[in-house]
Amino acid sequence: MAISILTIIYLIASVTFILGLKMLSNPHSARRGNLIAAGGMTLAIFGTIFLYKREDGGHLQNLAWMFGALLIGGVGGAVSSRKVKMTQMPEMVSLFNGMGGACAMLISLIEFNHVTGSIPSINILKLSEVITGGKYIAIIIGLVIGSVSFAGSMIAYLKLSGKLKDISFKGQHIFNMILFGLIIVMAIITYNTHALSSPLYFYITFALAIAYGIFFVMPIGGADMPVVISLLNSFTGVAAACGGFLYNNNAMLTGGILVGAAGTLLTILMCKAMNRSLLNVIIGSFGGNAAAAAAAGDQGHYKEISLADAAMVMSYANRVMIVPGYGLAVAQAQHTCHELEKILTDKGVEVKYAIHPVAGRMPGHMNVLLAEADVSYEKLEEMEQANEDFKNTDVVLILGANDVVNPAAKNDPASPIYGMPILEVEFAKTVIVNKRSMKPGYAGIENNLFFQPKTSMLFGDAKKVLQDLCAEVKNA
Ligand code: NDP
Repeated sequence: MAISILTIIYLIASVTFILGLKMLSNPHSARRGNLIAAGGMTLAIFGTIFLYKREDGGHLQNLAWMFGALLIGGVGGAVSSRKVKMTQMPEMVSLFNGMGGACAMLISLIEFNHVTGSIPSINILKLSEVITGGKYIAIIIGLVIGSVSFAGSMIAYLKLSGKLKDISFKGQHIFNMILFGLIIVMAIITYNTHALSSPLYFYITFALAIAYGIFFVMPIGGADMPVVISLLNSFTGVAAACGGFLYNNNAMLTGGILVGAAGTLLTILMCKAMNRSLLNVIIGSFGGNAAAAAAAGDQGHYKEISLADAAMVMSYANRVMIVPGYGLAVAQAQHTCHELEKILTDKGVEVKYAIHPVAGRMPGHMNVLLAEADVSYEKLEEMEQANEDFKNTDVVLILGANDVVNPAAKNDPASPIYGMPILEVEFAKTVIVNKRSMKPGYAGIENNLFFQPKTSMLFGDAKKVLQDLCAEVKNA
């Protein structure tokens, strides 16, 4: 009876994961979706602890260990998620993802020991005669993918938090391919060797997988990390699904498959939004590209606008479109930006935000940033909609965005960002660009938009400029 109740609990949990994921795709329902999926997970955890029956018919023991771990994990997760700053979000995701990989890795290590530990020492059978191929594949894939995901995520975390620099050496990609080949060879040897000596090869496979995770992520540029984290996230999902197979646990299986599929889709979408292949991200040839910046050459003269003039132009506009970018996040200027929006709206100006899918440094960065400042979702326009509306816009105010408004993506086939969909701000009547200097953005290339006749530069830190603009617009 208890088992069937547990099966129903797993089914309910699986449904909540699917529902939660669906609800996460809309800002209105995202918070509720997260809670529903978390509720399903809690149900699955407590259902397993109290209702799961072992082969000998007994219930799970070691409750103190389980509740101790739940308490430490729960408190650690709650405190860190409250403390984390919006700009530190990618590193936190990376750290948490690494923990998921570590769990899958530990499950495989424990299950392997479980199998080999129960073989009598006089046994001379091969491992392949002791466990089925299916079970071994679930163990070894969980181990390899979990270890790669754990080690890779830790490196990503250290790089994003500035504790580690990009490290690459000549022939790194060939070295990585050899490592990968060795992992496969060792995994095959483990299965086909004497059951009592198989642990040696198993642990060599484990060590190689950890090394592969480190060397795979090490050379990738810091700003490409969100794509890599999303990829590692999908790996963690697959590794967790292997755990689901091992334990015949449907909730774990569904959860793992959903994470794997969502991570893969997100990776593909991010690559598409940057018009780059996954291979290009992994081999890394984008960002800080001095040669590309130099090749852009001298683009002519740009003109500056004063704060008072910028305030005047916006106050008398019918429609203002704000384009937020990475610089807005760095300056933590989202609240001041919302303040400016309210002041302009009070003056009868219609204000909207144009959101590019990869503006910032992680997917949905701008949506989350503006939501934190209580900007209404109705005010946010996705790229396709915004591109329709620019022709009817009087003023575009660009705040710390660069690549996502660079017309070279449309006009210059030689540009590294050629083909990346952009916000076509040049169709608006006036464009005001706020940044601190004429330095390039993430892709390391010049932006011709800054030199166009309808564009004016408003230099300074986004937060300070917005504070001053608020004061000026009030008086305009
Ligand atoms: P960019 O990196 O292209 O430009 C940001 C601009 O902000 C810089 O030119 C910088 O100029 C300015 N800036 C920095 N600090 C401040 C500040 N305190 N105040 C005002 N301005 C500031 O950002 P975008 O958002 O336009 O584009 C995102 C880029 O990141 C794209 O190339 C995208 O492909 C890439 N990317 C995005 C990912 C995602 O998931 N969102 C993932 C991986 C990459 P200055 O120094 O002169 O101030």
